[in-house]
Amino acid sequence: MTAMRDRYLKEIGIPVWRLRASSAELSTVMTEPSGAAVGAAAAPRVIEPLPREVAPATEPWAELVAAVKGCTRCALHKSRTQTVFGVGRRDAHLFVIGEAPGADEDRQGEPFVGRAGQLLNAMLRAIGLPRSEVFIANILKCRPPGNRDPQPEEAASCTPYLSQQIALVQPRVLLAVGRISAQWLLQTDTPIGRLRGRVQSYGERNTPLVVTYHPAYLLRSPLDKAKAWTDLCLVKELLSRSP
Ligand code: SF4
Repeated sequence: MTAMRDRYLKEIGIPVWRLRASSAELSTVMTEPSGAAVGAAAAPRVIEPLPREVAPATEPWAELVAAVKGCTRCALHKSRTQTVFGVGRRDAHLFVIGEAPGADEDRQGEPFVGRAGQLLNAMLRAIGLPRSEVFIANILKCRPPGNRDPQPEEAASCTPYLSQQIALVQPRVLLAVGRISAQWLLQTDTPIGRLRGRVQSYGERNTPLVVTYHPAYLLRSPLDKAKAWTDLCLVKELLSRSP
C-alpha cells in the first residue's frame, strides 16, 4: 500500500520523504510549502470504495442528458463541437466541479481530458479514488471560444444543469477545482488562496465543499501541488467520516 501511495505522489510531483526511524518500519511525512512537517498522521490512506451498485440510467438522468445536448440557452451553443455533460458514477460520494470545457474536452465530449485531466486523475488516485468512482462535471457544458473565462450570464444559464446533477448524485463532498469554479459556486470574489484549505458548504443541503487549484494551473505552478495535496487530504478526511 505504501509503495502504491508513493507512486501516486511521485506521479503528481510531490516529493515523498522518509524518516530515518530506528524502528524497522519507516514512516512517511509530507512537508508543507513552509517546510513544516505534517507528520505521519496526515499521510494518505487509500479509501476503499463502499460496496454500491452502479445506478441505472433512470428517466431524470436521460431527460437531463437530452436537455443539455440540445441546449441553446446561451450563445455558446453556436460555437461548440458538442456539449460536455459530465462523466462518472451517478451515485458518487465525490463530485468534482471545474469551470468549462477546453479544446480537448470540446472535441472528446468529456471533462478533464488531456494533461490537466491526467493530473486530476493522479490526484484522485492519490487519495484512493479512481476517476471511475467520482462524478466530474463543469459549470459550463459548452466551450467558451478561445478558452476565455465564462461570462456570468453563461454561468447563470448553465448552472441549473449542474444543480440538477448534484441533486441526482447527492454526493457527500464537492471538490471545486480552480478559481472560477470556486468563486461561482460560493458566489464570492475572494481569492482562491483564501477559499482553499477549509471546508465550505454548498446549497440547501449544505454539502461540504473543498476548494483546490485547477490542475492546469498546477502544471504551470508545480510548487502549489503541495497545497493541492493538503486539499485532497481534507477531501479524504471528509469522505472517511460516517455519512
Ligand atoms: S453553456 Fe450551458 S446554457 Fe450555454 S448553451 Fe451550453 S449547455 Fe446551454
